[in-house]
Amino acid sequence: MAAGQMTRGYGQEEFVLTDPLTGLGNERRFFNKITRLIADRADDPAPFAVSVLDLDGFKPINDLFGYPAGNEILQQAAMRLRAAIDAQSTVARIGPDEFAILHPMVFSEGAAEEQARMLIEILSAPYDVGDRTARLSASAGCSLFYSEEDTAELLLSKAETALYHAKRAGRGLVIVYTCEIEQAAKRTTRIEQALRRSVAAGEVEPHFQPIVDLATRRIVGFETLARWTDRDLGPVSPVVFVPIAEKSGFIGQLSQVLLSKATQAARDWPQHLFLSFNLSPSQLVDHNTSLQILSILRQTGFDPRRLEIEITETGLMSDPASAGEIIDDLRRMGIRVSLDDFGTGQSSLGRLRDFRFDKLKIDRAFVASLLEDRPSEHIIRAILAMCEGLGMDVVAEGIEEEAQAERLAAFGCKDGQGFLFGKPGDAEATLGYLRSTASLPRE
Ligand code: C2E
Ligand code: CA
Ligand code: CA
Repeated sequence: MAAGQMTRGYGQEEFVLTDPLTGLGNERRFFNKITRLIADRADDPAPFAVSVLDLDGFKPINDLFGYPAGNEILQQAAMRLRAAIDAQSTVARIGPDEFAILHPMVFSEGAAEEQARMLIEILSAPYDVGDRTARLSASAGCSLFYSEEDTAELLLSKAETALYHAKRAGRGLVIVYTCEIEQAAKRTTRIEQALRRSVAAGEVEPHFQPIVDLATRRIVGFETLARWTDRDLGPVSPVVFVPIAEKSGFIGQLSQVLLSKATQAARDWPQHLFLSFNLSPSQLVDHNTSLQILSILRQTGFDPRRLEIEITETGLMSDPASAGEIIDDLRRMGIRVSLDDFGTGQSSLGRLRDFRFDKLKIDRAFVASLLEDRPSEHIIRAILAMCEGLGMDVVAEGIEEEAQAERLAAFGCKDGQGFLFGKPGDAEATLGYLRSTASLPRE
C-alpha cells in the first residue's frame, strides 16, 4: 500500500468526514456511503435500510450533569452502537444527539424495526458518568431503499420523518416510513402551505366559547378558539393546524391575527366580561410575545385587565426561565394568566409554586368521568382545595351535562365551561348570544 494511502485516514478529507467527539463518520460521510451503496445496487436492486436514532431526554442530562458528562454519554453511546451493528453496517453521528445507521443487509421493514428496537435497548442501559449513573432512552425512524427513485437525501429525510412521528408518539418507539406516513406528510405539507397563505391574508377567525359562574349561570367571560376553513381543504381543526403552525414557525403571526380580531370583537361586549386567549408553548420561548400582545391591545384599545392568557404545562417546560419572564411581563401589564388543561401531562405541583397563576382550568377528562368515577371526584375536590389555598380561581372545562355542573358547583367550583352552556361561536353569534342571555341569569 502506498504511503500516501496509509496516511489518508488522518488527512484533510477524512477530517471533514469525521465527528471529532465520537470518531464516527459525520452526516456527509454517511450520505456518501448511502450514495455508494445505491450505485452498487444498480444491478442487484435488493432493498436496504437506513435508521436514525435520537436520544430521548438528552438535553436535561446535559443541564443536570454538565457538558463533559453529556459528551461522555455520547461517546459511550457511539461505542455501544459500533459494537452492536454487524460488519457490513455503518454508524454515523448526524446531529447533537442523533445517530444514523446504514444496514446493507436488512431487506424488510420488519427486520429494520427489529434492528432499531435492539439498538434502542442497548442505548437504554445505564451510563456511568463519574460516580453517577444516567439513564436515557432513544427513539428511531427507519426507511427502506426499494428503487433508484430513493436517493440518499430522500432516504434520510424519510427516516427523519418517521423519527419525528416516533418522538411525537412517545419515548423509546420505532417507526418505519410507510405509504400512510407519506400520505400524512403530504397532507401536512398541503395544510402548511394553505395555512401560511391564509394567515398572511388574515383568514383565520376567532370563535368564542362562554365561561359561566356555576352558581348563577351568568356569563363571566369567553375563551377564544381559533377556527380556519380553507377553500380547498374545508374546515381544519385547531388540534391539527395549531401544531403545524408551531412547527413551521408562524404561530406568532397566526396568534397576532387572532388576538387582534378577538379583542376588536370583545371590545364591544359588556365591560365586566373577560376574554381568554391561548398561547402555544413555542410562544413562551419567544421574548417578543409580551410586547406583541401589548402592541395589539394598544392598537385595538382593549383593556389588558380584561384579558387572560391560557398556557399549558408543556409551555413551561422547554425554557422555564423564559416562560417565567413572559408570565411576569404579562402580569405586570395587568393581564391574568391561567394554567390550562390541568390534570393532564405531568401536573407537577412544584410548577404551581415556581410560577404565579391567577387561575387554573381543570381538564375536561376529569369532568367527563366525574359522575361515574370516584377517583375523578377526589382529584377534582383536591384540586379545588388546593386552588383555594393558593388563592387561584378555577374553571372546570368540558361540562356537557346538568348533573356535572351541579356536582361541580356543590364541590365549590366557581366557574365552568362546556357545551352545556354554549359551543364556540363566531363574533356575530356571540353578540347575539350575549343579547339573549347576559342579562338573563338563571334563578
Ligand atoms: P383547549 O384550549 O383545551 O380548548 C378547549 C377545547 O375543548 C376546544 O376545542 C373546545 O371547543 C372544546 N370543548 C369545549 N367544551 C367542550 C365540551 O363540553 N365537550 C367537548 N368534548 N369539548 C369541548 P377546539 O376549539 O377544537 O380546540 C382544541 C385545542 O386547540 C385547544 O384546546 C387549544 O389547545 C388549541 N387551540 C385552539 N385555539 C387556539 C389558539 O388560538 N391558539 C393556540 N395556541 N391553541 C389553540
Ligand atoms: Ca384553552
Ligand atoms: Ca383546556
